[in-house]
Amino acid sequence: SITSIKERDEEIKSVLHVDEEGALSKAKELDERLAAAGEELGLLYGLPVGLKDNIVTHGIRTTCASKFLSNYDPIYDATVSAKLKEADAVVVAKLNMDEFAMGGSNENSGFFPTKNPWNTEYVPGGSSGGSAAAMASRHFFFTLGSDTGGSIRQPAAFCGVVGLKPTYGRVSRFGLVAFASSLDQIGPITKNVEDAAYVLQAIAGYDEYDSTSANVEVPDYLSALTGDVKGLRIGVPKELIGEGIDSEVRDAVLAALKQLESMGATWSEVSMPHTEYAVPAYYLLASSEASSNLARFDGVRYGVRADNAANLIEMYKESRSQGFGPEVKRRIMLGTYALSSGYYDAYYKKAQQVRTLIIQDFNDVFANFDVILHPTTPTTAFKIGQNTDDPVKMYLEDICTVPVNLAGLPAISVPCGFAANGMPIGLQIVGKAFDESTVLRVAHAYE
Ligand code: GLN
Repeated sequence: SITSIKERDEEIKSVLHVDEEGALSKAKELDERLAAAGEELGLLYGLPVGLKDNIVTHGIRTTCASKFLSNYDPIYDATVSAKLKEADAVVVAKLNMDEFAMGGSNENSGFFPTKNPWNTEYVPGGSSGGSAAAMASRHFFFTLGSDTGGSIRQPAAFCGVVGLKPTYGRVSRFGLVAFASSLDQIGPITKNVEDAAYVLQAIAGYDEYDSTSANVEVPDYLSALTGDVKGLRIGVPKELIGEGIDSEVRDAVLAALKQLESMGATWSEVSMPHTEYAVPAYYLLASSEASSNLARFDGVRYGVRADNAANLIEMYKESRSQGFGPEVKRRIMLGTYALSSGYYDAYYKKAQQVRTLIIQDFNDVFANFDVILHPTTPTTAFKIGQNTDDPVKMYLEDICTVPVNLAGLPAISVPCGFAANGMPIGLQIVGKAFDESTVLRVAHAYE
């Protein structure tokens, strides 16, 4: 893993920091335990892993790809970091991302953009672009990302790997640097569905350190991978398969539906009429929550403090002006505005009402179907620089992923072929709340 990074990551730039010493000493410890008879070995024994850099790791630099946190060494582990260690995985490196997970192309990293391993002129997606590109490069056995509005699934689709966003509350957010707390979830990025099931098994479960963690039993995900989809009812929202979806992407998804049909599943078109409002509602709510969450970065408690300030207020201002990049500032301003008295009812409250309607759309479909299936993204990966001068255009790319976060549901992206230019296409399978088993079963049967 370390050699692979050193030899092959120079061009792709998926990795921010390597913990060579820590990884080697963990590997040595695991070797000794293997040699000592009678030791029980963890589910992910010896597997090298890279973590998105917004997941805190005790003693390993955690920057969220922000200049603000460029010197931050956490004094504790996120629950997922601790669980991976308990499962005997080896944390090797921290991975590039859009700053504070805001973006969909990795071009917002405060350090450098990651490139798509399939073609370095293209973005890897984001915000977990480093995690997806590192996985596509096979630097690690698996990686973890976080998904607030698609940040696991979209880069997985762009990089031709598997990305799973669990149900909100399934995986602890303790130690995940918060972007939008009511939407954020951590999940695995892997080369196949079986690996995703293993990793989810290791990281899922109730955690008293996360007040929104769900106290719901974690089933055996491996036993869900039966290969059987007979009688499965698939709903395909017409809003996410028609206009606005690239024809190559649509054809690939229709071909996948045909394959599932030949295996005994049935599908029909359904309508989710509020889909068109999902992107504006998401960007309002996510930015509102971000403006509140990022208030903690004041130059006092974490990270870098500006050294050119004459007094306290100026120190806050200067630290934030210098520490945050343009996209983060844009969101803080939008969110602060939407939450301010006088505008709250018109924007924040309205967006919450839209969120309820979107949840209702899902409930209506799930009354008659087992899963919802549609593309992960309207297009395949775009070229680096292509969307950078138009934030709204970039935001509209998220239409296939944000409704799922607004409803808190589990969803997976699995590779489903390639466009004529050689870039991978992703297919998305959305399940009922806490029904990751069905999502994994269908994805596994298909892939
Ligand atoms: N692209 C979306 C955004 O910029 C999703 C980000 C995410 O899921 N972290 O907000």
